[in-house]
Amino acid sequence: MSVAETPDLPRSEARTPAAPVVPEYVQPPDRSTLPLVFTAPRRGKPPMHWADLDPAARRTAVEAAGHRAYRARQISAHYFEGLRDDPDTWTDLPVAVRGELASTFMPQLLKPVRELTCDDGDTVKSLWQLHDGSLVESVLMRYPDRVTMCVSSQAGCGMACPFCATGQGGLQRNMSTAEIVEQVVDGARKLAHGALKDPDASSTPRVSNVVFMGMGEPLANYKAVVGALRQLTTPKPDGLGMSARGITVSTVGLVPRIKELATEGMPVTLALSLHAPDDELRDELVPVNTRWNVDEVVDAAWEYARITKRRVSIEYILIRDVNDQPERAEQLARVLRRRGTWGWVHVNLIPLNPTPGSRWTASRRSDEDEFVRRLQARGVPVTVRDTRGREIDGACGQLAAGQADIAEASTATTPVARARV
Ligand code: SAH
Repeated sequence: MSVAETPDLPRSEARTPAAPVVPEYVQPPDRSTLPLVFTAPRRGKPPMHWADLDPAARRTAVEAAGHRAYRARQISAHYFEGLRDDPDTWTDLPVAVRGELASTFMPQLLKPVRELTCDDGDTVKSLWQLHDGSLVESVLMRYPDRVTMCVSSQAGCGMACPFCATGQGGLQRNMSTAEIVEQVVDGARKLAHGALKDPDASSTPRVSNVVFMGMGEPLANYKAVVGALRQLTTPKPDGLGMSARGITVSTVGLVPRIKELATEGMPVTLALSLHAPDDELRDELVPVNTRWNVDEVVDAAWEYARITKRRVSIEYILIRDVNDQPERAEQLARVLRRRGTWGWVHVNLIPLNPTPGSRWTASRRSDEDEFVRRLQARGVPVTVRDTRGREIDGACGQLAAGQADIAEASTATTPVARARV
């Protein structure tokens, strides 16, 4: 269900997404005024895939295709446990049916267009083409203690944040559950095949963390995203068997959806892209603030922490002379502390990553340090995020797959161009 289909949203805006919701006066004259788009354009549905189905639906589908129900578990073990989508490797299934099962249940959803590597080989960005030509990106990152997969949940994004390259490109369509899951499975396969391996480490790394911080607003594609969360957290062999603790859903702050997510029984970490402690500035930086303001969205985040017992992460991009003043740090501390000091929240500061056409830049180091100091002095836990993938436009807010990427990739000699930047 999309956000616009819920009764708690004003229907008029949902029906006419073309009308800008952001009052003109808060927009600087040289920045675009994009509309907020909650309902994704309806495009041809991606083909159904094994990772769209729950275990019961898989058994039914296998039976409907003329096979015994227990085959479903065998197929799941190949896909989720063995990460094998090549039917030739499904040796516990009769040769005669392998190909047919694979073509019915595992159509290729993500066509690799290009891969870029940076950070000494510790970051890999993949550009994918979906069945209808839409382009999305995912980023795999190795850290000393974990491997994080950053996934897209929509092709494009309708939230129109002016500092974000994806937001500036508008929304093409929602991704399906399987299209989201396949990004993680691909990362897991890459690792299994030796990618990102530390030559000194004896064991093969695994995807330990998944962050919904790629293209799109995950909570505007709620049903597919929750479906993907289930596939990721369902124990093997019926799912990828990941811990909900390792999964982070990042949102601009769709309040009804934050509340709903809290009741799903999957205590994933919620990251709220706040970026300003006051409505005047947040209306401009995160246009959806005109729908749910700072107080409403921080209340919802607090409620999420209370219900799930998971500490919420407040994302705060530092933009030079826009939101990085000491008074704003004080105000942010007040906004958070007002809701209690029981460890419900943590602030993650993100140095602004450059995006095309934006006249904003990252904060000065001294202002960043002062911002951190002010928050710490008020007892607010704070970290500064490192900017993985910056050189390959794979960092936060830089994902904006475009036709130029395809053109560039198609001039390469192999279908997947591997560039080392
Ligand atoms: N739509 C979701 C998830 C995608 S963006 C959201 O907004 O939360 C993931 C994070 O990257 C968000 O906190 C987002 O605000 C941040 N981001 C976007 N553009 C950025 C940029 N240019 N530099 C740094 N962070 C950015």
